[in-house]
Amino acid sequence: MSTVAGGIKMDQNDRSQSMTQGGACYCGAVEVTISGPPATSGYCHCHSCRTWHATPMTAFSIWADTAISIQGETIVTEVSGDSHRVSCKKCGGAVANKKPKIAMTVVYPMIYRQSGADFPPQYHLFYSERTMDISDGLPKFVNTPTDFGGSGERVDESKSTGWRMQV
Ligand SMILES: [Zn+2]
Ligand SMILES: [Zn+2]
Repeated sequence: MSTVAGGIKMDQNDRSQSMTQGGACYCGAVEVTISGPPATSGYCHCHSCRTWHATPMTAFSIWADTAISIQGETIVTEVSGDSHRVSCKKCGGAVANKKPKIAMTVVYPMIYRQSGADFPPQYHLFYSERTMDISDGLPKFVNTPTDFGGSGERVDESKSTGWRMQV
């Protein structure tokens, strides 16, 4: 089965189609359960993601709220827009990013991969804000595809992968 999201066709791992899988935060106090494949998966280079995760970019996947559940004590941080960022109350680890206006939840692959779920990123978002050049052949958007509300404008593939001095 495949789904179309962001104009990108996704090929999914058959084993992951009907399974309920999960993961946990850094300390294990918060557990996340996901059902079926995500609506879409990608990398995000935006300033908000980079500073919240303290990483050069983040890998994400998005599920309908009905396909995900979060158990354990969490802290929800709202700084901008429709992003309710959920972290573990004990270790502070990033768990999810809830999007109430569209009833979707972003989950980070580094949380669920240990359980065997693997939904590789299909494209790069907010590549214009990047701290790293990436040469991986995936589409790179200035902001987001048009069906996510963005311009759909692409950035040329980088010649190599590596740290950028200026952002
Ligand atoms: Zn934790
Ligand atoms: Zn982002």
